[in-house]
Amino acid sequence: MKQPLAPHFLKIFLPIQVLALIAWALFFYDFRVENLIMVLIGWICIGGYGIAVGHHRLLSHRSFKTHPLIEKLISYFGLLAGQGSGLFWVAVHRGAHHPYADTEKDLHSPIHGKFNSYVGWQMRLDPRKVSFKKCGSLLSDPWHVFLHKHYIKIFWGSILLVSLLNWRVGLFMMVIPSFISMHTENCVDLFCHTKGLGYRNFTTTDNSTNIWWLGYFGFGQGWHNNHHYNQNAAVYSAKWWEVDPTRLMIFLIKSR
Ligand SMILES: [Zn+2]
Ligand SMILES: [Zn+2]
Repeated sequence: MKQPLAPHFLKIFLPIQVLALIAWALFFYDFRVENLIMVLIGWICIGGYGIAVGHHRLLSHRSFKTHPLIEKLISYFGLLAGQGSGLFWVAVHRGAHHPYADTEKDLHSPIHGKFNSYVGWQMRLDPRKVSFKKCGSLLSDPWHVFLHKHYIKIFWGSILLVSLLNWRVGLFMMVIPSFISMHTENCVDLFCHTKGLGYRNFTTTDNSTNIWWLGYFGFGQGWHNNHHYNQNAAVYSAKWWEVDPTRLMIFLIKSR
C-alpha cells in the first residue's frame, strides 16, 4: 500500500505554497520598495541565518561556535523556514545524507528520481522512521527539544501572531522567505547531487557538484562539492570567485 501523505507536507509545505502564491501576487500587483526590503530581511534571517548558517553549518556540522542565545535565535529562524525543527534537519542531514550520500539510504538523493529528490521524499516521509541517534548532545538541549515538540504550533503561531499585528510583515517577511528557502534547499538536494550538472573541484565518493547560482543566491549551499569534500568547514568557497555569503554572516555572530 502506498504511504499516505506526510503530516508535515499537508500541514506546512502545501499551505505555504498557497499562501506564498497569494503573497507573490500581492507583491507584484502592488509593488512597493518596503515590501521588497521585508522579503530581503526575512530571506537573510530565515533562509540565510536559519537554514544555511543555523540548521546546516552550526547544528548539523558544528562548523563554528557562537553565543548560546544566538544559537537559540537562529534555530528559531530555521524553524520558520518550514523544513522541520533543527533536530529533524540534523537527523536527516547527519544521519541519512552525509554518511550515505547518493546511496540507497540517502533520503533525498536524485538516484531515487528527480521528483523524489526535489519534494517527493518529503511528501511520503514517515517521521517515525527518521532516526535521531546522530543528533547527539542536541537531544539533551531543552531549547531544541522544545522547538521540535511544538514545531507546527510555533511555526503557524508565529506567522499568525505577526500577521495579526501587520499582515504585510507576515506575508512578505515570513511566508515568502519560507517559500524561497524551501525551494532553494530542494534545488540543492536535486541539482547539487545530479551527475553531469555544474562542476567538481574535488573527488568525492558521492555525486556532489557545485552549482554557481545556488552558491551565490543560496547562501553558499550551492558550493556543494566543496562542502562534501570538507564537511566541517564553515565557509564553502574553494576558489576566489566562489563567494560564500555566509562568510560575513558567520563572522558577525561567531565567538572569538
Ligand atoms: Zn552538510
Ligand atoms: Zn549533499
